[in-house]
Amino acid sequence: RAELAMYEAKQRGRNNLQFFNPIMQAEASRRASIEADLRKAIELDQLQLHVQPQVDHTGRILGMEALLRWTHPDEGLIPPGSFIPIAESSGLIISLGEWVLREACTLLDEWAQSPETADRTLAVNISPKQFRHPGFVQTVLTLLDESHFDPRRLELELTESLLVEDVQDTAERMRILGERGVRFSLDDFGTGYASLGYLKRLPLFQLKIDQSFVRDVLTDPNDMAIVSTIVALGNSLDLRVIAEGVETEAQRDRLLQLGCLFYQGYYFGRPAPAVRRVASA
Ligand code: C2E
Ligand code: MG
Ligand code: MG
Ligand code: MG
Repeated sequence: RAELAMYEAKQRGRNNLQFFNPIMQAEASRRASIEADLRKAIELDQLQLHVQPQVDHTGRILGMEALLRWTHPDEGLIPPGSFIPIAESSGLIISLGEWVLREACTLLDEWAQSPETADRTLAVNISPKQFRHPGFVQTVLTLLDESHFDPRRLELELTESLLVEDVQDTAERMRILGERGVRFSLDDFGTGYASLGYLKRLPLFQLKIDQSFVRDVLTDPNDMAIVSTIVALGNSLDLRVIAEGVETEAQRDRLLQLGCLFYQGYYFGRPAPAVRRVASA
């Protein structure tokens, strides 16, 4: 009987192998073709920044988050979730990330020219690999030198993985940019593995409550508890706390009850192309 079970397992293993191979191959070649196309996309002007508002409890817009969009000539709009990981594993994220930062600075310079938008912040997502790259700090400093807006308007969104490995290096990079005025948010907070002890050692400005805790905040007591806990943590560490993925008024009301005063999500506005001033001749 044991022999029979082993034989069957082997057969299954063999079948699995035959079954998975073509799929894995298809996936690998899909990644390779996306990577090649992405390389061209930067030059061919197929990338675009969309922005989504971040508001306070009165509904006033405090700033925007920049979200990258790629319109592929054949495949149409490709969401960042499908190409950022490929850019990260191929190293393309360095030039891609620099493109995003440059666009963001151009937009902030435009906002600075009008009193209604001059106070707005723009948050830019920074991938761990991009942040760790030796040239990253200098790239940001150079862009700030070439720009005219107040550097405090630029926010960088980091993820918890940066706080897990090489905290010393992370802290040093944040310190240099922080001294120049740049602010830092911790994105998708609550989903990673960051030790809470690190939070107070890093010059952070804001925690972003991950949208997975917001989705069921009306019905799931665990999510309510998590939101309250993050708000309390933020208050005691003097960090602003913003909730992501707020889709309804009821969610916003609940978040407010739980002490969260800042929000981002479809209820307040979907990501949309950044309106760019047309240069006058
Ligand atoms: P993220 O930084 O956590 O951005 C929030 C994501 O939630 C965005 O997805 C946004 O469109 C979506 N979202 C906003 N409000 C709502 C809502 O009310 N409900 C729901 N269900 N979703 C909402 P998006 O634009 O597809 O971006 C996905 C992720 O891709 C981002 O997550 C970020 O990690 C990454 N990403 C986007 N742009 C860039 C970039 O320029 N550089 C890097 N490194 N990563 C980026
Ligand atoms: Mg983000
Ligand atoms: Mg997020
Ligand atoms: Mg996310």
